[in-house]
Amino acid sequence: MERTLCIIKPDAVKKKVQGNIIQMLLDAGFTIRAMKLIQLTKEQAQKFYEVHKERPFYNDLVEYMTSGPVIPIALEKENAVPDYRELIGATDPAEAKEGTVRKKYATSKAENAVHGSDSVENGKIEVGFFFKEEELV
Ligand code: ADP
Ligand code: MG
Repeated sequence: MERTLCIIKPDAVKKKVQGNIIQMLLDAGFTIRAMKLIQLTKEQAQKFYEVHKERPFYNDLVEYMTSGPVIPIALEKENAVPDYRELIGATDPAEAKEGTVRKKYATSKAENAVHGSDSVENGKIEVGFFFKEEELV
């Protein structure tokens, strides 16, 4: 079974749409293996988004991701990585398809409601970033 990491980002938690997003995940057939509400430290956010450290938006991204609590969720499903990317839609909500999480709930390209792993390999790494194996139920 494939794993992917969802993070419900600060803008979505502030808008109180986390319940709606979790329902969308369940309705789409994902199993929640682990979930928690946490406040990321600057160091954690920098490490999580290290691949983007040379990008012009990196500092703003770290600031945004630490601007309030987030909800990391370990998801499992056959084809979890591509199916979840399909469910959340394009990075920029203006380009996201109707009915996707980002079309419904994102604020902007930067504050776009949810994170999603971009490969099976990164799905494993990112689930491991937030959860120990024994925390997956
Ligand atoms: P995705 O989250 O769809 O995989 P990326 O991995 O390209 O997108 O970027 C990571 C996150 O960085 C995005 O979800 C978004 O919050 C932010 N981001 C990406 N591109 C931009 C941009 N051009 N301007 C501001 N923020 C951005
Ligand atoms: Mg990405």
